[in-house]
Amino acid sequence: MSRVYNFSAGPATLPEEVLKKAADQMLEYGDSGQSVMEMSHRSKEYQAIIDETEARLRKVMNIPDNYKVLFLQGGASSQFAMIPLNLMNKTGKADFVITGQWANKAYQEACKLCGEENCNVVASSKDKTFSYIPKLDSSKFNPTADYFHICQNNTIYGTKWAELPNTGNVPLVADLSSCILSEPVDVSKYGMIYAGAQKNMGPAGLTVVIIREDLIGNAKEGTPTMFDYETHAKNGSMYNTPPTYGIYILDLVLEWVENKGGLEAMKEINEKKASIIYNFLDGSKMFNATVQGEDRSLMNVPFVTGNADLDAKFVAEAKANGFINIKGHRSVGGMRASIYNAMPIEGVEKLVQFMAKFESENQ
Ligand SMILES: *Cc1c(COP(=O)(O)O)cnc(C)c1O
Repeated sequence: MSRVYNFSAGPATLPEEVLKKAADQMLEYGDSGQSVMEMSHRSKEYQAIIDETEARLRKVMNIPDNYKVLFLQGGASSQFAMIPLNLMNKTGKADFVITGQWANKAYQEACKLCGEENCNVVASSKDKTFSYIPKLDSSKFNPTADYFHICQNNTIYGTKWAELPNTGNVPLVADLSSCILSEPVDVSKYGMIYAGAQKNMGPAGLTVVIIREDLIGNAKEGTPTMFDYETHAKNGSMYNTPPTYGIYILDLVLEWVENKGGLEAMKEINEKKASIIYNFLDGSKMFNATVQGEDRSLMNVPFVTGNADLDAKFVAEAKANGFINIKGHRSVGGMRASIYNAMPIEGVEKLVQFMAKFESENQ
């Protein structure tokens, strides 16, 4: 067996300890005589797993009691619709900051469901291919908006909000798909957090929603049952079959995070990994980071040589040397190293050594 260093933006690398434990438990979980995959979601064995997962997530993220944790399907992309359906219910208006493709999709879906005239774009960084987080002019905020949406870490462009916008009483709704569990967050500053699991939490197919209780129960008329947060909150994420195996893997990932020392420790390790690669990029004559300063993501690091042929050569040679999925998103070009929690420091160190070698061989 030879495992590669996988720099994929998602689905992404998972901790080897988690995969090994899942492998050990594949044929029989505990003394249940069955795999977790085969269990009825209504069984007491499975109820214990989902309860443990929620309890661990609450502990690891320090989630206040007045927030519900929902385990859903449909990806972060379904949330782009569920959020306006459930939250645009008082003034029917919402604020958006467009920091990339995902942030824009959340905006577009709200326009489609609630009318473009009700969706206010506070700021955008489209003018420079979303390579920065725009400075906000709070006079452009709507103080009576039903929510204010941001994408906290922009997976494709490698930017991250260094500081959250101060939205006052307007609930802040944030897409944390590619940064959840990478560092501590103060959940009480948000009305709602959501994330697809396949970046930092587990396999694709699970979507986690953390939502303040007062935001549940006012879905717009006509909202499909499955798209109403109340349906899932009332039924402990068991209105229908939840993504049972993905929830179980999340439990193992959370156990791994706890063993590493929790989110403070994750942050320290992630900052170390990111600084190794950014320091190299800042000193390189061939490779350049596309994002500067405090807007840099700890999780996704895009970089370019400025020469498309050289980029392609680098991607191909990296792959041949066991560094896979390092090609950048088609809208940015170049390369992108996604260095989520499960990417070990050695993976980043070896990548940087390989980049230095490539640079010296291709001057
Ligand atoms: C990956 C990603 C999405 C899309 O997630 P799906 O689960 O594929 O719908 C949305 N937002 C962000 C920030 C992402 O990184």
